Amino acid sequence: MFSERIENQNTFFNVRDLMLYDAIELNSYLPEYSDLEFEDGTIMNGVIRSMIVVSRCYWSYHELYQHLKILPKHFISNAMGGERYKRSTHPKMVEIIIKDIVAQYSITNPVEMESINKQAFLITAELLKVNCLCAGEYVQSMDIIDVLQIQQHPIVVEAIRIVSLDPTPTNIQICYNTIEKFIKETEDLHANPVIVAVRSGMVNTNQVLQCLAIRGYLKEVNNQIFKTPVLSNFTMGLFETYEWFMEARSASQSLYMAEAPLEDSEYFARRMRLFTGVVQNIWHGNCGSTNYSTWTVSGPTFDDSGKRIYQGDLPNMLGKHYLNEETGELLTITHDDPALWNKTIKLRSAHRCAFPDPHYVCATCFGGLSLNVSRFANLGNLCSATGTKQVTQLTLSNKHYQASAISSSFIIFDYLRSYLIPYLPTNGQHVCLARHLVPQFPHIAVPRDEFTGYLDIKNTKSEEDFDKLNPSRMSSISSLGLTLTKDNVTETIPLETRQKARNTELSYDFLYYVWSHPQHVSVDAMNNYLVNMIEWDFSKPIFGMPDMEQSYADLAAEIANLIERPASEKNGRTRELIDHRIQRIFRIATQKLTLNLACLEVIMYAASVPELGSYEMSRGAAEPIHCSTDLLTKHRSLGVACAYQDHQKVLTSPSSYLPHDKVGSYMDVFLTPAEVVASGQF
Ligand SMILES: [Zn+2]
Repeated sequence: MFSERIENQNTFFNVRDLMLYDAIELNSYLPEYSDLEFEDGTIMNGVIRSMIVVSRCYWSYHELYQHLKILPKHFISNAMGGERYKRSTHPKMVEIIIKDIVAQYSITNPVEMESINKQAFLITAELLKVNCLCAGEYVQSMDIIDVLQIQQHPIVVEAIRIVSLDPTPTNIQICYNTIEKFIKETEDLHANPVIVAVRSGMVNTNQVLQCLAIRGYLKEVNNQIFKTPVLSNFTMGLFETYEWFMEARSASQSLYMAEAPLEDSEYFARRMRLFTGVVQNIWHGNCGSTNYSTWTVSGPTFDDSGKRIYQGDLPNMLGKHYLNEETGELLTITHDDPALWNKTIKLRSAHRCAFPDPHYVCATCFGGLSLNVSRFANLGNLCSATGTKQVTQLTLSNKHYQASAISSSFIIFDYLRSYLIPYLPTNGQHVCLARHLVPQFPHIAVPRDEFTGYLDIKNTKSEEDFDKLNPSRMSSISSLGLTLTKDNVTETIPLETRQKARNTELSYDFLYYVWSHPQHVSVDAMNNYLVNMIEWDFSKPIFGMPDMEQSYADLAAEIANLIERPASEKNGRTRELIDHRIQRIFRIATQKLTLNLACLEVIMYAASVPELGSYEMSRGAAEPIHCSTDLLTKHRSLGVACAYQDHQKVLTSPSSYLPHDKVGSYMDVFLTPAEVVASGQF
């Protein structure tokens, strides 16, 4: 077909004819531009050679699955979506083709997926080879002149001038947004190598912004945020001595993160593997369970500067099946569908599956991702590794993903929404008591041992002295009690305020109220300080998160705590339902990680038992109970216990050898190989 490359001349090809050649041959022979005819008759004019070469690599799927027509949507420009070819383009292109193969060949079994997955691996290798051999002519270098070209552009200069006048966290975020938008959209400098690198996803945008915008608020090793921002950046250099010191503290943090926090994260990963291993795999069928869990879908949320701070629930719920209550049919979440935002849906859930063998979860309860689970995988291990590998990676890199440090906001969970509202001036770092509670005579109960500064406040004589107190030293609150009285019935609602692995602080306004209204403070029967809020200004915040940024290590610690430790029953609090605990972990984890709900359900299924004192799996239980995973690991299965810790205690305890309520695990093979092999279960 080709003798030699015909330059500057449009030629016309049918895509199937191109399949006679491999990508490297096409790169040598094809003219710069061609017209392509796809197998549905669509004609694409003036297609550049490099795009055909890259697409050809993906079309090896069409060689394997001959009945799949090569359509315009299988052309690389579809996955690029009007942008450059970047890191996310490759998985997207593979996904588009795989979805079509799965639909056309009606694939419902992971065994059939194996050759598809293998091909994805081969395509990745092929692309690397083709890139090395064919892309040399496109390689570009960059130097300081390219960086300065952006730095001195009037839009960037103006954005920095404005933020320098009033460097509040919100204004810094606006400055970042302006410069990021400029880098991603400007036509002026579209050929600038730095801009090309950002747009293709080759460099981390936040790191480029640290070089071009202002450095912003830096952190102490313990994540406490320094009060003074750095107004310069790495391109222009740091000028002040204190800027160097602050930068050095942030750098120390990165060194520190590679040690203890990394060990903690990996140890957490190991504990997860041990207790989740009892969930072996997926049974490919539908158990027909009608035991749904209800879920109120949150849409995306944005901060004051318009930046998206939460992507919404749906991107992490893809593949989950939910009930269409009118028709009784099961629907599948396939994309971020705004029609579902703020709706309450009934979900099929792994922890509510009804398949008789408790070691298996049915494909329908797990969701559409079940096709991705290899028959050789252990489902529990796979689900836990999906989350913990990200935490470890992020802890290790500890890059400033958030270019300027921002205090965490307090997440108000659904069950607290009717009592608490975010305090807007601090972007939700603090929260207010809802005004509609006034007629119910609200009182706040503060645990005495968590309000250690109370006596200092009480003994303060003048307003001047009060202002000298440091609010962050006065209290460290894990929970408050909200007492409401309606129709002569008094009820106390526990407000759990410990969040993001740290306690909250009572606000300056609340402390001032306690000081200036001593007549409203008493001590209740539980030895809490009870504050009558009758004269309280409801527009003021009552408590908030400390001025600290949450690191990935903190996030991991918080998630670990929620997964491994059930809510305690002290102080009259009741156990938290598994469903509520799942929702809480989901909201916290997906702020920064990608974790499909199906994985979390499997983890929490592994962490639940049918009743107190039992270590069996919770399959079929009316209301499963969240069990301490430390106890589960030690008592559920002897093989797992021996892979854990306190071996002497476990091995010498008679209860370890009582056969009742032991749950089999693949780890048992090391203790009782003959029995495990004979059972044929693993
Ligand atoms: Zn099921």
